[in-house]
Amino acid sequence: MKIGVLALQGAFIEHNKMLARLGVTAVEVRLPQQLAELDGLIIPGGESTTIGKLASAYGLIEPLRQFAAAKPTWGTCAGMIFLAKDIGSQQQPILGSMDITVDRNAFGRQIDSFETDLKIAELGDQPFHAVFIRAPVVTAVETTVDVLARLDDGRIVAVRQRHLLATAFHPELTDDLRLHGYFCGIVKCTLQANR
Ligand code: GLN
Repeated sequence: MKIGVLALQGAFIEHNKMLARLGVTAVEVRLPQQLAELDGLIIPGGESTTIGKLASAYGLIEPLRQFAAAKPTWGTCAGMIFLAKDIGSQQQPILGSMDITVDRNAFGRQIDSFETDLKIAELGDQPFHAVFIRAPVVTAVETTVDVLARLDDGRIVAVRQRHLLATAFHPELTDDLRLHGYFCGIVKCTLQANR
């Protein structure tokens, strides 16, 4: 199983380390042709406008769209924004792969970074310690999308749409490997189904 981490900007090194700890080969992706050999892809957090601009410059937008249409892809924070179909009136390149509406920088300036424990049923009873850094939230989902986690106030911060996963926080900045393990499980199932 080979998983790529989009390495244009942002926290890609941290994702690589998490995958390595799970014994998974991680590839830093910067060129469209690298996608062909991958079974899954992580789009890291960082700055979605920069990731979008660089992806356009490197001719990656359409290849990434095609990849996400067929293969497991997980966006964290800026990666979630990049995967969304609707980001409001923002003008920036996005993939539009997931049926979600996302509000960028949803927590404003004052509390633009915080940490909290989330209940994520797919991961078991133990709460997941989530780090939010100038994070987005999901403000609307279509019926094709499953909600995996909400904040105490009900706002949606983790979603899955078949082989696509998106989280508003940064699981690569904690020691908890469970979400990376969960994504690897999606990759494994998809590989088996397509065999
Ligand atoms: N605020 C950033 C954006 O709009 C996302 C922040 C992050 O990825 N930690 O792209």
